[in-house]
Amino acid sequence: MDAPMNLTDRFGRSINYLRISVTDRCNLRCVYCLPENGVQWQARENQLSAEEIARVTATMAQVGVKRIRLTGGEPLVRPDIVEIVARLASIPGIEEVSLTTNAMLLEKLAGPLADAGLKRVNISLDTLDEKKFKQITRGGDIDRLWRGIAAAEEAHLSPLKLNTVVVNGLNADELSALARLTIENPWHVRFIELMPVGNAQNWGEGFPSLDERYISVHEMQARLSHYGLEPATTPMGNGPARTFRIPGALGTVGFISPLGEHFCQNCNRLRLTADGYLRPCLLLDGEINLRENLKAGTPLLPLIQRAVDAKPAGHELLLQHYPEFRRMAQIGG
Ligand code: SAM
Repeated sequence: MDAPMNLTDRFGRSINYLRISVTDRCNLRCVYCLPENGVQWQARENQLSAEEIARVTATMAQVGVKRIRLTGGEPLVRPDIVEIVARLASIPGIEEVSLTTNAMLLEKLAGPLADAGLKRVNISLDTLDEKKFKQITRGGDIDRLWRGIAAAEEAHLSPLKLNTVVVNGLNADELSALARLTIENPWHVRFIELMPVGNAQNWGEGFPSLDERYISVHEMQARLSHYGLEPATTPMGNGPARTFRIPGALGTVGFISPLGEHFCQNCNRLRLTADGYLRPCLLLDGEINLRENLKAGTPLLPLIQRAVDAKPAGHELLLQHYPEFRRMAQIGG
């Protein structure tokens, strides 16, 4: 049988986007994502090599995958991240390689990554307050993040997206200040609902309790009503975000609601874990093992097709079916 020229799942969704977690390791410990101590990292020898990641990507490019996002863990802690980008960007059919990062190592790497073919970066930024940044990330330095953003702009890694996970009692009071960043900067600030996965348990002293934390995108929008937000689009499409603009602003403000108004009906992606499993859905357990075929050099396409066929209609968080097998940092968010 000839290989299919594109990947379409049981629900007619075309799969053209691959998110790759290149490592589960991270140089920060954001409260909602990882516990403060005692994280068990995967053994380094279990991580796919740059060559193996490129092989999966090249196979997927043959059947219509065009966009790649590298994530983690923190993708920039991988010593061969520039090589990974260079390999992926040179694969025929891959139109865009982008990356999601906490920006702690971006100042040095933005230039080399752009030279290697990286197009854009998304940066996680949950607060503008230096002390709170340190508290939420458990040790992060917000000045390094701003220097990383400056380096990304200098390297033309644009348009820049800033992702904020909004938590009641922690940073929900900063929505207005974060949105204000878009007035004079061509940045796309996206406010994301907290998902009840990852480090969902007690975050420790000084943090809101579990039932206080969740705030819906409706509530977020209501809190920004004074800006008179107008519907907008971004140059790279809106993805899962509902996007608006403060009148006259250079950038946009987006809202992502994995819970209340989930966007599974438009899901166009697969996820590859750092240890070589394809995940049909971020929020439901269930994976296809590519490792043996990668090691043996046997065809990957039948397994990729199986992962596409296994894509569920949508996640089941509202039925309280949570992913338990892996942490967010292992899947890549
Ligand atoms: N280290 C990189 C970073 O900080 O952007 C990439 C990996 S991180 C797991 C990817 C994204 O997942 C981040 O924007 C993070 O805020 C988000 N994330 C992690 N846990 C989350 C949760 N429980 N709910 C919503 N977003 C979450």
